[in-house]
Amino acid sequence: MLVKEIADKYVMSTYSRFDKTFVRGEGVYLFDEAGGKYLDFTAGIAVNALGYGNKRVIDAACYQMNQVFHTSNLYYTAPMAKLAKKLTEKSCFDKVFFANSGAEANEAAFKLARKYGFLKKEAACGEYGTGDTRKICGCSKIISMKNSFHGRTLATVTLTGQSKYQKGFSPLVADILYAEFNDLKSVENLIDEEVCAIFTEPVQGEGGLYPANIDFLKGLREICDKNGILLIFDEVQTGIGRTGELFCYQNYGVEPDILTLAKGLGGGLPIGACLAKDFAAECFSPGDHASTFGGNPVACACANAVLDEIIDRDLFLNVKENGKYLMERLKGLRCPNIKDIRGLGLMIGAEFDIEVKDIIQKCLDKGLLIIGAGKNVLRFVPPLIITKDEIDEGIAILGEVLSAL
Ligand SMILES: *Cc1c(COP(=O)(O)O)cnc(C)c1O
Repeated sequence: MLVKEIADKYVMSTYSRFDKTFVRGEGVYLFDEAGGKYLDFTAGIAVNALGYGNKRVIDAACYQMNQVFHTSNLYYTAPMAKLAKKLTEKSCFDKVFFANSGAEANEAAFKLARKYGFLKKEAACGEYGTGDTRKICGCSKIISMKNSFHGRTLATVTLTGQSKYQKGFSPLVADILYAEFNDLKSVENLIDEEVCAIFTEPVQGEGGLYPANIDFLKGLREICDKNGILLIFDEVQTGIGRTGELFCYQNYGVEPDILTLAKGLGGGLPIGACLAKDFAAECFSPGDHASTFGGNPVACACANAVLDEIIDRDLFLNVKENGKYLMERLKGLRCPNIKDIRGLGLMIGAEFDIEVKDIIQKCLDKGLLIIGAGKNVLRFVPPLIITKDEIDEGIAILGEVLSAL
């Protein structure tokens, strides 16, 4: 039986996969069962920041596996402590909670925000009543953006401001409100004393590659400061160098109070993180939140190696330069079906006036992997190590496909 046949028979059908099985990767290339070579502009959905087969990451993983690869959070491990120190030293945050995915990192941020709101209201109005009549006044509303994406758990799918991800799963989590992305007025209209946090991606990824306007993020910061509300950035996709700085908020000069990471952090191993400033992090006490696998030493060892490699090689420069180059080359295609090209660093979208499904399949047939973001947007999120020559190679294939439309 083929891998595809076995998987289709025994794995739940939650994905519509391409008919392709990869067995090996090297640099920015993947190889299929028949030895076919594919240039990868998807990087495992913005995950494989260093491409495939990075020696430093593999060595870090192998070393740690030989030492110990799980202890639980009942005990300390060095890779976890080292990673928390590194992430906070390179950012404006003080503390980290480790999870295993983007959705889980956002769950942690969500719970931290609710706890912050709870403590804030409790301090303001106290608890009253006893027994069944005992009531704690809440401050539980969270404002999220339309067209956003924050994950597939029940809380994060509720934060996700797109009904197509929510259909069939009601009742959703209570007290989530939706504002228009890049529209401060629509956020202001939702503010009241029950709001504890505002959640947003600095560049909407799955929603179609929409960067936030600088005035929007600055305005959110002001609203949050004025009202004692937490500003939370979901940097699961934009973080770890993807947009030309280690964290996307650094491009804007707007500091959130809480920030979530996952995709690029482990270089391919599953890890998520929720970073927070002290005043917010302090809302969690022992027992409030946990994860059996969170902070796994092998995943953390990989993340340490990924960060060292990105910083030592100054890949930020590569992301900025080659992001610009990729954007220019896309514009140079002069495809009449392309309506807009936008993005930041190596997170670029090309919006078409047609569905892109066909283009993606035809590129795959010719040896180029690309993904969509919604029905009409092609998303370019190659490994951060990509060179101009490799970009030229991909653009040549895409150009062939587009000219045959
Ligand atoms: C991918 C993504 C998530 C979800 O991450 P998972 O690891 O799939 O749970 C959350 N937020 C953003 C912005 C993402 O791009």
